[in-house]
Amino acid sequence: DTRPNDLSAFWMPFTANRQFKKEPRMFVSADRMHYRTSDGRAVLDGTAGLWCCNAGHNRPKIVEAIQKQVAELDYAPAFQMGHPKAFELATKLVDMAPEPFEHVFFTNSGSESVETALKIALAYHRAKGQGERTRLIGRERGYHGVNFGGISVGGIVTNRKMFGTLLNGVDHLPHTHLPDRNRFVRGQPEHGAELADELERIVALHGGETIAAVIVEPMAGSTGVLLPPKGYLKRLRDICTKHGILLIFDEVITGFGRLGSSFAAEHYGVMPDLITCAKGLTNGVIPMGAVLATKEIHDAFMNGPEHVIELFHGYTYSGNPIAAAAGLATLETYAEEGLFARAAGLADYWADALHSLKGLPHVVDIRNEGLIGAVELEPIEGAPTKRAFSAFLKAYDKGILVRTTGDIIAMSPPLIIEKEHIDTLVGTLADVLRQID
Ligand code: PMP
Repeated sequence: DTRPNDLSAFWMPFTANRQFKKEPRMFVSADRMHYRTSDGRAVLDGTAGLWCCNAGHNRPKIVEAIQKQVAELDYAPAFQMGHPKAFELATKLVDMAPEPFEHVFFTNSGSESVETALKIALAYHRAKGQGERTRLIGRERGYHGVNFGGISVGGIVTNRKMFGTLLNGVDHLPHTHLPDRNRFVRGQPEHGAELADELERIVALHGGETIAAVIVEPMAGSTGVLLPPKGYLKRLRDICTKHGILLIFDEVITGFGRLGSSFAAEHYGVMPDLITCAKGLTNGVIPMGAVLATKEIHDAFMNGPEHVIELFHGYTYSGNPIAAAAGLATLETYAEEGLFARAAGLADYWADALHSLKGLPHVVDIRNEGLIGAVELEPIEGAPTKRAFSAFLKAYDKGILVRTTGDIIAMSPPLIIEKEHIDTLVGTLADVLRQID
């Protein structure tokens, strides 16, 4: 048995998980919809890795593009120099993005995309001579990565409370999860759009001229697949526009077809001023993220009167050749296989399958949109998260990978999923729910 019994060296959070130390869950290979475990079992991937492998695993086109690139040009400086693949990728990304987005800032992760977008928003107002707009608004239950800006605007208190002050001047909108009014709703809930008006209250408190940006996930993914109530995003947009506040959509999960269109902005018909993305940009294969900006914002950030000489922004690995090659092959795969339209085409089948779990033991809510979904379980009194975690373990033993967050089981399969896979995924989950306490 070559399995390590102490994983603390490379994956910190698991050090606290004794069960994991005893029975490490190791993936050693993957192919399209399946992982293979260290004990030789196939596991159906119900989560696209960590919401990232949207084209499925080990796609030869992407693997070969990386191999070819690394043999040809391993690295090129990101400043003053360049290489063609980064420009090709930026062009492709802009082509597939909604119309107002013309510029791309490459990063290496979702967290870095968030930091970059927040910096751009702050600098934009100054460059436009709009003074000290330094306040930022996030939302409860928002997840924006683990760096300083991201945890400041993020809405998960446990992720920030041990770090002291963090960014000054951050407020959080209320989250949009209204379980007393919205249960077992297919798609977007009807109730809760008025929660966006809380932004007006925050504006009244501080003055709109002090607020740089509002950042939200159009659909909160990793905190439990919380869909925006109908009209909510539009209301946020209108209030931001009225007060000259930039609106940032964090599309690290919703980008690249998850909801059936390139970005959620398109799906919901609401255009933000900046979009952050990562994960699906390279099919999760190589770390890379990006911020999409309109021409006006890009020009102000790069050429604003105060910044033209002083400002430096960029990462050593921004748009590096290997990630860019992976990104290009990924975007080509999405286009050649029509994977975004495929997600849209499967959305109803997915919704029917998920909602067939209604009435099974412990199930208190089911949510779906595009090819993402969640099944919320009644928590065990005094032991929150325990029930969902035992469902996760049993599901894994039965050969499916789901993800848990609190008492919520979340799923976001690769967009190449077939109907039979959906049946297996949901059928296995049904068995699990009947078997757990
Ligand atoms: N924003 C959102 C909406 C995310 O879902 C995530 C990752 N789950 C991040 C940011 C952070 O991305 P990364 O882990 O690549 O830093």
